[in-house]
Amino acid sequence: MGRIVQKFGGTSVADIAHIRNAAGLVQAERERGNQVAVVVSAMAGVTNQLVGYCSEAAALYDAREYDSVVASGEQVTAGLMAMALQEAGVPARSWLGPQIPIRTNDVHGKARIVGIDSVELERRMDTGEVPVVAGFQGVSPTGRITTLGRGGSDTSAVALAAALKAERCDIYTDVDGVYTCDPRIVRGARKLHKITYEEMLEMASQGAKVLQTRSVEIAMNHRVRLQVLSSFDDGPGTLVVDEDEIVEQQVVSGIAYSRDEAKITLVKVPDKPGVAAAIFGPLSDAGVNVDMIVQNISEDGKSTDLTFTVSKAELKQAVRVLEGINGEIRFGQLRPDPNVVKISVIGVGMRSHAGVALRMFTALAENGINIQVISTSEIKISVLVDEKYTELAVRALHTAYGLDAT
Ligand code: ASP
Ligand code: MG
Repeated sequence: MGRIVQKFGGTSVADIAHIRNAAGLVQAERERGNQVAVVVSAMAGVTNQLVGYCSEAAALYDAREYDSVVASGEQVTAGLMAMALQEAGVPARSWLGPQIPIRTNDVHGKARIVGIDSVELERRMDTGEVPVVAGFQGVSPTGRITTLGRGGSDTSAVALAAALKAERCDIYTDVDGVYTCDPRIVRGARKLHKITYEEMLEMASQGAKVLQTRSVEIAMNHRVRLQVLSSFDDGPGTLVVDEDEIVEQQVVSGIAYSRDEAKITLVKVPDKPGVAAAIFGPLSDAGVNVDMIVQNISEDGKSTDLTFTVSKAELKQAVRVLEGINGEIRFGQLRPDPNVVKISVIGVGMRSHAGVALRMFTALAENGINIQVISTSEIKISVLVDEKYTELAVRALHTAYGLDAT
């Protein structure tokens, strides 16, 4: 008998009818002879509404109280799901993060799980009971309720699967798997049967929104086999697995894009030791995450241009910080630009194939798209281009790498 964790996202528990449908999927998994633990999100739209209440209540709210408010959405669905299971004749009970407990650090609003005490859950699962765990939440070292960042119930599910040494963690959502590209933009996008952890990690962090990035990290570190699938139609989804489980590896598995990027160029930055640290130090202290960075070689040995990206939401804050330090650093000009998109080509096959980047640059050139910034990793090439080219660029690349459905 195997153990399976089933996680249901907001659209899969959007109302009582959907919750009943999800309970049916739990029942079916049990009938296949498996022990099941369930993790639920809040009903679709509920978390957004709760976040809205917080902003309305206080401009600068207490993050501990924010967590207390937004964690409530999952409490509702956990209870309702347990009821639906009981109605279907399945012994079940709900569990809140602090009841298990799922222990986290105290970074409210985006806490990290540090441990799960699963002994009692396992004991009950051995008797046939289905634990229904409220996703997205845990408890801090001082006993306060915490939440794991938006989309965090994926992370609850994967961490629970790791703790339970589950055979698989099924993430039920409203799409039937992971696609080579966003099907809303690329009509020929195909569902991937399998994808490696590393590729999925890049896809998630480069803007593909199916899974919370942190959940993929945990799956990779603990070798949890993940499946992304739809609760609305049956059929297998996409398996996220180890590289050696994939027999025929494509060079490129997918194209991701992120509109959540903004570019900042500092013109005529003094070219001397310590300047980069003097710029990126204060940004980091202000909580601004910097992603791509390019610095040109200085022509005269005195000054150079520095370009980097931050998330759109942090652009204002970044500009403020940079204006504040210009007294000391003395750069020529500060040029912020929110109208950019980052497009990434992802595939573990890149490690062993030449010419992958060239194909990207050629495809973009053929479409008259200018590349502003380039960055690469072992299995990813990203470019920053004008936001207005998003669709054109993504479609051109999807075709150039032979990913279009035939
Ligand atoms: N309900 C939370 C959110 O909307 C967590 C989740 O659904 O994963 O972010
Ligand atoms: Mg989600």
